[in-house]
Formats: sequence, structure tokens, C-alpha cells
Amino acid sequence: KMALARPIVFGNWKMHGLRAEAKALAGGLAERVGRPSATLGVFPPATVLAEVAAQLAGTGILVGGQDCHDKPKGAFTGSISAPMLKDAGAVAVIVGHSERRHGLGETDALVRAKVQAALEAGLLAILCIGETEAEWLEGRTLEVLERQLDQSWPQGASAARVVVAYEPVWAIGTGRTPTLDDIGRSHAAIRARLERLASDGDKVAILYGGSVKADNAGAIMAVAGVDGVLVGGASLDPDGFFAIYRAG
Ligand code: PGA
Repeated sequence: KMALARPIVFGNWKMHGLRAEAKALAGGLAERVGRPSATLGVFPPATVLAEVAAQLAGTGILVGGQDCHDKPKGAFTGSISAPMLKDAGAVAVIVGHSERRHGLGETDALVRAKVQAALEAGLLAILCIGETEAEWLEGRTLEVLERQLDQSWPQGASAARVVVAYEPVWAIGTGRTPTLDDIGRSHAAIRARLERLASDGDKVAILYGGSVKADNAGAIMAVAGVDGVLVGGASLDPDGFFAIYRAG
């Protein structure tokens, strides 16, 4: 498998996008994209995934899900499996986002099982990790990131199949970000850990996420060790999303 072109710019739509809105947003992206030299992707809600995937087919923009169940099918009312996402046109899935770890109590062990499920379905997994504000204030950031990687990186996973997204919980949707030095330090610690966990750990893409906007994206993507960004709020507007892409 070919390595993903850098920078990698992913938009996580979260729980935004009625069908008409999703269609307008995907249409706006399709119209602006040209021929992307970077890796661009969007992660719409599951209800519009198939339509967005169809709309973006041929643009080079990849489409992914925001979460998957750890089993391929079964009696799990309300859940969506990795093969279902793939069947709807997804090529990737976000796993372990903080809104699921902290909002819904997902553990490292469950997150690892979900990454595994994504890989088994042939999806690229975007594995999210990040410290809470309390952990950050206590100076435990690197220790937390290492623990999350140790416990959620599946044995045998490779750089071609898993991307890591470093998203400090306190930076998500708050307008606050770590300093560029702190981002660089966290990415270096993640890289060092990945080199122990995977034979090609030096090649795993590591994204930064948390309050990335057009005006800070260039500086963040210029930090050594940052391979791209995972964007929430600012990915809901095609101009804003493309301004971030062009800043990379
Ligand atoms: P934000 O979200 O860009 O709105 O802070 C990032 C994310 O949660 O992926």
C-alpha cells in the first residue's frame, strides 16, 4: 500500500449534516478541490455517508465514518459496523474520538477492538488519543498518550492502515490549542512510542486535532512531526476547510 500524501487534512463533521446540508457541503468541496496533492478526507454522519461518497467519487477526497462497532454484525441495536461503513462507500473510520472515550465511556481496550474491526473490514483507522485538561495541568500528557497507544494500538498494525490523531481533549471545540512547542513535544513522544509498537512506526502519520482553523493551520502543520490535521468545526464550511488545506 502506498503511503498517504502529506499533509493529511481530515474534516470530522460530527453530528452535523441533514441531507440537504451534507449535499451542499460535499458539493462545495467537489467544486473547489481540483486535483489534490495532499490527502483530503471528510467524515460525515452515517446517515449521509453513502450520498456523500457518491457525490465525491472521482474527486480524490476520501470519505469515512466517525465510529464503528467492534463486531462485524449482530444483535447491537443502533450500532453500525465497519463492513457496513465500507459497504456505504467509506474507506476510513475515526476510532476512539474523545467525544466517545469521555462522553460515552469507551475504554482503550474497546478502542483497540474497534481499530482491529476497521482493519479487518479493510478500512483505514484514524486512532484518536489525547489528554484531558486535568491530565495536562498535572503534567501527565506524555504518560497518558503513551498509555493510550500501548493499550489501543493493535499488535501487527502498520503505517499503511492506521493514522494516529493527537487531540488534546481540552483543545477540542474550545478555541484553545497547546503551544507549537507542546504540539511538537507530544508528536515526538507519540512517534517514539509508535517506533516501539510497530515495525514501521517511523512511517505512521500523526495528525494534530483540536481548534484547528484557517489562521493557525499553517503554523501547526509546519511543526516537525505533524503530518496533518483533523478538523472539526472549521470543516463545516467549504471555504474554511480549503483555507486549512491550502495552509498545509
Ligand atoms: P474542533 O474538533 O476542530 O471543532 O476543535 C476537532 C475534533 O474533534 O476532531
